[in-house]
Amino acid sequence: MVDWEGPLKEAYERATAYLDGLPERRVGPRASSKELHETLGGPLPGGPTDPRDVIARLAEGVEDGLLPSGSGRFFGFVFGGATPASLAADWLTTTWDQNAGLYAASPAAAVIEDITAGWLVELFGLPRSTSVGFVTGAQMANFTGLAAARHEVLRRAGWDVERDGLIGAPPIRVLAGAERHDTIDRALRFLGLGTNCIVPIAVDDQGRMRADALAEALEDDGPQIVCAQSGNVNTGAFDPITEICDLAHAHQAWVHVDGAFGLWAAVSSQLSALVDGIELADSWATDAHKWLNVPYDSGLVLCAHPEAHRAAMSIRAAYLIQDENGERDPLDFNPEFSRRARGIPVYAAIRALGRTGIAEIVDRCHAMAQRFAGILAANDVEVLNDVVLNQVLVRFGDDDTVTRRVVAGVQDEGTCWMSGTTWQGRAAMRISVSNWTTGPADIDRSAETVLAVLRKLS
Ligand SMILES: *Cc1c(COP(=O)(O)O)cnc(C)c1O
Repeated sequence: MVDWEGPLKEAYERATAYLDGLPERRVGPRASSKELHETLGGPLPGGPTDPRDVIARLAEGVEDGLLPSGSGRFFGFVFGGATPASLAADWLTTTWDQNAGLYAASPAAAVIEDITAGWLVELFGLPRSTSVGFVTGAQMANFTGLAAARHEVLRRAGWDVERDGLIGAPPIRVLAGAERHDTIDRALRFLGLGTNCIVPIAVDDQGRMRADALAEALEDDGPQIVCAQSGNVNTGAFDPITEICDLAHAHQAWVHVDGAFGLWAAVSSQLSALVDGIELADSWATDAHKWLNVPYDSGLVLCAHPEAHRAAMSIRAAYLIQDENGERDPLDFNPEFSRRARGIPVYAAIRALGRTGIAEIVDRCHAMAQRFAGILAANDVEVLNDVVLNQVLVRFGDDDTVTRRVVAGVQDEGTCWMSGTTWQGRAAMRISVSNWTTGPADIDRSAETVLAVLRKLS
């Protein structure tokens, strides 16, 4: 009999030790790249090693090179952690090792994604017929949403882009806020549209697209796509979606919304006004691995025009067993072919939290961001943004060098972790509260650390 138990028990023990240790663990890596190469490297294994030993040595080897992003005092980027149900479901997803491309390849995975798609559409308050793809992250969600957009705006111009490509096609203009996420530009590169198709639209001091600037830039005819944003990666600010959709639709333009983490504001009764009008858009990109706290990797693309979504993604091949009678083949909505049953951990996360549990995470992260900003502001630290969501931008001594030194000092100290950024030409520390475990004690301890590092520098 195969010894499954040996390596899996080792993994289980290592995993629970890691998770239980998170609250008190130093929030930062300890080892250098050279040290990691030494611990983990060596010559190509010439022959087999016992699997349990492999797992034990792997866990020991990576220990000092992990960035503990699951900690309640991790405020870097917008990462989020993992909830117990989503993590456990993720383990089982790996165990079952299903290929979620086709219904025939895994009825359970296909049906779970179908059910989860319905729950997500309801959570976000989107049109009932909205189609959903379970992709790796918001990068691929932006890619997929914009592929559907490209299909539709060219179809309306009498061009079949899936058949004829872009050579000779009518040009597409992509109107996007000046503070858009870089993954929009990268998606446009992947789509063969290139970044030169972007017409940058002026933004305000929070990074919100200005509707008046959009109104001026939209042209009367020709294929146009508007890329709006719900949740700026620095400030957390939201574009005025209703106005944007009204303007864009009056010009037959498609509206794609990048809501990688901000779309989750829709679930909170306290914050849902931020996404007012969101249901008017044509496609949306968001992540489950950020604010829903599902393990990496897990992104979601949603599309109000299932025919366009399908036309851009679907594939037919003689050897595939595809269901023409209503069962959902997930590959019709994804750029991947064979892939992990990524919907299962999302399903488990939503089941375990429910609507109120998700809203509670969003509301608490918002409150904790405000608490962080409040403590720093009370100590004469400049807060650069309106803390409308989970993002706080702060600057020290109105000085780029001092600000970068505080960021480096805090990372070095190890109580908490956040990264630096440049906001509208000025260096800033970027604090993102997106972990489901973060509470007031984490905020107070972290704010105290930031202030202590600042005092030591001056
Ligand atoms: C994180 C983020 C992305 C990219 O998402 P990935 O999941 O890393 O691919 C895109 N847009 C915004 C606004 C983001 O915050």
